[in-house]
Amino acid sequence: MIWGVKYPFNSTLMKLGVGHPILRLPYLLRLHPRAFVYALLFVSLSTGYVVLRGVNWDGSTQLHTVMESMACLLAMVVGVLSLVRFYSKKNNTFLFIGTGFVGTAMLDGYHAVVTSTIFASQFPSAPASLIPWSWIASRVFLSVLLFVSWAAWTREARLGDSGRIGELSVYIAAGVLTLASFMFFAFVPLPRAYYPEHFFHRPEEFVPALFFLIALVGYLRKSHWKYDDFEHWLVMSLIVGFVGQTMFMSFSGTLFDMEFDVAHLLKKVSYLFVLTGLMWNIYRTFRQSEYHQSLLEAEVSERQRGEVALARQAEESELLAQTGRIASSSLDINEVYGSLATEILKLIPFDQINISVIDYEKGTTLPKWVLGIDVPGRNSGKEIPLAGSLAGEVVRTQSPIMLEVASEADIEHRFPLLVPAFNAGLRAFIAVPLNHRDHVIGVLQIRSKEPGIYTQVHLDLFNRIGNQIAGSVDSAELYAEGQRVEAELIKTTEELSRSNQELNQFAHIASHDLQEPLRMVASYTQLLERRYKDKLGSDANEFIGYAVEGAKRMQAQINDLLAYSRVAGQRAPLEATDCANIFNIAVGNLAAGIEESGAVVTRDQLPTLPADSLQLVSVFQNLIGNGIKYHGDQPPRIHVSAVESGDEWLFCVDDNGIGIEFEFTERIFVIFQRLHDRTKYPGTGVGLAFCKIVIERHGGRIWVESKPQKGSAFYFTLPMETQEKSDSMAMNKA
Ligand code: ADP
Repeated sequence: MIWGVKYPFNSTLMKLGVGHPILRLPYLLRLHPRAFVYALLFVSLSTGYVVLRGVNWDGSTQLHTVMESMACLLAMVVGVLSLVRFYSKKNNTFLFIGTGFVGTAMLDGYHAVVTSTIFASQFPSAPASLIPWSWIASRVFLSVLLFVSWAAWTREARLGDSGRIGELSVYIAAGVLTLASFMFFAFVPLPRAYYPEHFFHRPEEFVPALFFLIALVGYLRKSHWKYDDFEHWLVMSLIVGFVGQTMFMSFSGTLFDMEFDVAHLLKKVSYLFVLTGLMWNIYRTFRQSEYHQSLLEAEVSERQRGEVALARQAEESELLAQTGRIASSSLDINEVYGSLATEILKLIPFDQINISVIDYEKGTTLPKWVLGIDVPGRNSGKEIPLAGSLAGEVVRTQSPIMLEVASEADIEHRFPLLVPAFNAGLRAFIAVPLNHRDHVIGVLQIRSKEPGIYTQVHLDLFNRIGNQIAGSVDSAELYAEGQRVEAELIKTTEELSRSNQELNQFAHIASHDLQEPLRMVASYTQLLERRYKDKLGSDANEFIGYAVEGAKRMQAQINDLLAYSRVAGQRAPLEATDCANIFNIAVGNLAAGIEESGAVVTRDQLPTLPADSLQLVSVFQNLIGNGIKYHGDQPPRIHVSAVESGDEWLFCVDDNGIGIEFEFTERIFVIFQRLHDRTKYPGTGVGLAFCKIVIERHGGRIWVESKPQKGSAFYFTLPMETQEKSDSMAMNKA
């Protein structure tokens, strides 16, 4: 923007090509208004001369001295102001004009002094010569410098910065010139100045007039006068100077006549015009700097606002980062929320903060954690229905809510459950959903006693915090749930193990203590049988037979139960055991049965693995024995094999016996559970239960695959390594 440009016409119209508003006037009139002023000034001055010509006026030396003293003062003011202007903004026009006027002030002063009556006698020339010539000196000096000021501008415009003339050389040149004139007048006798024989009595006045004219034409062509106030007044000053020289002074016939004094007056007017221009220029500069200042201030405050916003944004990001860190720092829900509240409070004021989780089945919300002022009946852990609560609304809309409550009437219909909070003094509310996997799992709320405290900015930020912590709230909930389940499991396991232990103890004690009386019953019934067989009648024989049989069976059962309880109650160390060896021992123990039934018992290669060998012999013996016992029409064929399966060995004891119905495949592993009449297949029903407990003690599993009449395959697994060993190996690997 160019300050000081004053187009009197509408620039929009100009852009549209409509042009000057006075376009329709004759061409001549289509001049800049200032050009009219110049023309008017010129014409009125010329007319003034015509009117005044012939007026009989006679001034005096004193008047002249006073006028020139004034001129000196004026020129000095103009010069100094110009130079000040030059130094505030380096512009060569001001440098030359400033220098010109300072020099002129000196010459005018000199002129005033030398032409005063006091000094008249000191100079070699008569006043009739001294006065006009010393006047001319000042006029020439000024007109030349004004001309030079324009010429310097054209040079600078042509050559740019390299065309600039240094101020020092200007000062020196001007100083030398001024001093030279002083000397000249002081020492050189001057020729006459008045030539009454010519039409122009003082033709020498045309020399400064010529320079004024060139400068005037130059400045007019420069055109800055159209918008630059200073140059406008300078042009006016040049017109006055030119007219003063040509029309008035050149016609002055004698000292102090009308032309002489009007020319002196016009000189001061021309100085005043430059002074006016300077004043305008300075005024404009001040206005401009004020404007720039205000722009700057606006910019600064804008920047400050920006900085504040930026700082706020940084704080928000930091808060979010911090909440994220806190949320994932711990699974302890109370610890997480405590630190979270402290962080949030840094940016969002509140009197209460709470987090509740939603129970969709019950249609309730459960405050998990509440910090801040107490609302009666709203403690953490106390369920609240979703309907009629703020949390309920958040769940329904799945969006954050900001609420301002001025009176109870505001909420009694829509949020009746918020009334206790209102009664506790809370007025402003924000509630945001905790969204996790497209699901509102809970609601995060802040409340304040101060009405109108919350803004959209708070709502947005709080919502972002909600999004940030939703995942961890969910994890914390899951974690808490997991902990609860785990604790229950531990408790149940402990109870189970205690009752197992008690049971085992009981089984052991019972079987052990029962053995003795049972042995007595068995031996005495056997004695009875031997002594009184066939003596007490046939019924007695049968009864005694039952008693002996029952006692024997019970003995067998108790023995098996004792063996079983021994395995259940103790944990023998596992040692590397060659299963082929175990197989051989078991088959050896079963030799009688094998021989009797004509069974064929075979095996693949069997591994060596950590086991309690005695117990493992019993397992093999039980499974192979069952294969022999539960044979069908064919002689029994039993095959034992083992294959690697991950870090276990998978064993299979396969037979061609009677098979088992699918529905009984689990029941047969329960103690005392049998599928057959003992007269057909004797047994106690402890064998498979024993196998199960041994295998599980070794860290394996046992099951059966079978079809009736198609034989059975009993599978069991045994780990390749002991649990401790594999744990320590895993640790070594890690
Ligand atoms: P017991 O053999 O002393 O009856 P077990 O616990 O060894 O007790 O077996 C339980 C029941 O499982 C047996 O009564 C029998 O009905 C069934 N069973 C076990 N092994 C086999 C097998 N190889 N083939 C068919 N049935 C079997």
